[in-house]
Amino acid sequence: MTPFSIRNASSPQGAVDALSAHDNARYLAGGTTLIDLMKLGVEKPTTLVYVDDMPGLGAIEVVRDGSLRIGALARMSQVADDPRVKAGWPMVSQALWKAASAQLRNMASIGGNLLQRTRCPYFRDTAFAHCNKRVPGSGCDAMDGHNRENALLGTSSNCIALHPSDLCVALTALDARVETLSRDGPRVLPFDALHLLPGDRPHVENALRPGELVTAVVVPGSAAARRSLYLKVRDRQSYQFALTSVAAGLDLEPDGSVRDVRLGLGGVATKPWRALAAEKFLVGHRIDEATAFEAGRRAMEGAVARKGNAFKVELMHRTVVDALLQLARAESIS
Ligand SMILES: Cc1cc2nc3c(=O)[nH]c(=O)nc-3n(C[C@H](O)[C@H](O)[C@H](O)COP(=O)(O)OP(=O)(O)OC[C@H]3O[C@@H](n4cnc5c(N)ncnc54)[C@H](O)[C@@H]3O)c2cc1C
Repeated sequence: MTPFSIRNASSPQGAVDALSAHDNARYLAGGTTLIDLMKLGVEKPTTLVYVDDMPGLGAIEVVRDGSLRIGALARMSQVADDPRVKAGWPMVSQALWKAASAQLRNMASIGGNLLQRTRCPYFRDTAFAHCNKRVPGSGCDAMDGHNRENALLGTSSNCIALHPSDLCVALTALDARVETLSRDGPRVLPFDALHLLPGDRPHVENALRPGELVTAVVVPGSAAARRSLYLKVRDRQSYQFALTSVAAGLDLEPDGSVRDVRLGLGGVATKPWRALAAEKFLVGHRIDEATAFEAGRRAMEGAVARKGNAFKVELMHRTVVDALLQLARAESIS
């Protein structure tokens, strides 16, 4: 591991100032992504700004307009287990419950979850020479290599690394917002604007400015958020990243047709993915096997499959169908 020093931040402004004062510095929260990557030699910061002890950023609140506001330092387990989250935003609670392990969920923060990095083996293992994300311009060994866990949507000719977060799939489906603080002051980003497609610069993963600190995530309340679920398909039933996952929310008219539907996809894309074409198709239709099947097909339109991950086209199709049919049958999900 490259030698580094640690600065403790006691306030968000102090954290921003400390990070901005050092080249090659990173925020350290729970450390469950960053310390791993430092041990692997992928990340080599020379200064860590420890934010985990800062007071005031760990709160979970339902604010006046009915939105859920989650402080960036809330633990994954705290949010997953909060009765207000379970009742009003089940897909958020379930996405967190189904992520990582109990120990990791107790340690890891919401801000860190948003900014965790890909699990692509060619990115994480420095023995591989060609990874445009780790070494810009070096190529991409995943294209023709072991790409079973890599992305099919949002890819470019430079990178097919998958975005791994479960929580982010639910947040994109529910039109969340991200609150931040930087030297330019506070700002709010639509969740969809936080993560960037790889394009020809896969090493630039998010829209945060240098030194910008995530302070909170705000998730609007809605009928579709209340009637929602997170379905995750994986090689084993716990402690495993998604092969495919769907964050689905549904609001029906009195006649049973769809008034509002939300479909976030995980395990298949380079950033948290919203299946907008499938959502658009479903509005005004009743959900039955035929409409769910068509929505599943539309969800994967534009997918670019590789040898190892082609099975995910069919698997995601079925995951969408299953999620929609479960939701349509459910009186209420909690
Ligand atoms: C074995 C294992 C299995 C896992 N399985 C899953 C899974 O199934 N699903 C899933 O979703 N995740 C999974 N994870 C990932 C885990 O959820 C993340 O590691 C965790 O959420 C990161 O949070 P942290 O507080 O530890 O972040 P850290 O490691 O401290 O930070 C991660 C990154 O975010 C930056 N950062 C942290 N906080 C802020 C902030 N407030 N503002 C700006 N930047 C910040 C850091 O600089 C760093 O770059 C797994 C991890 C491991 C190790």
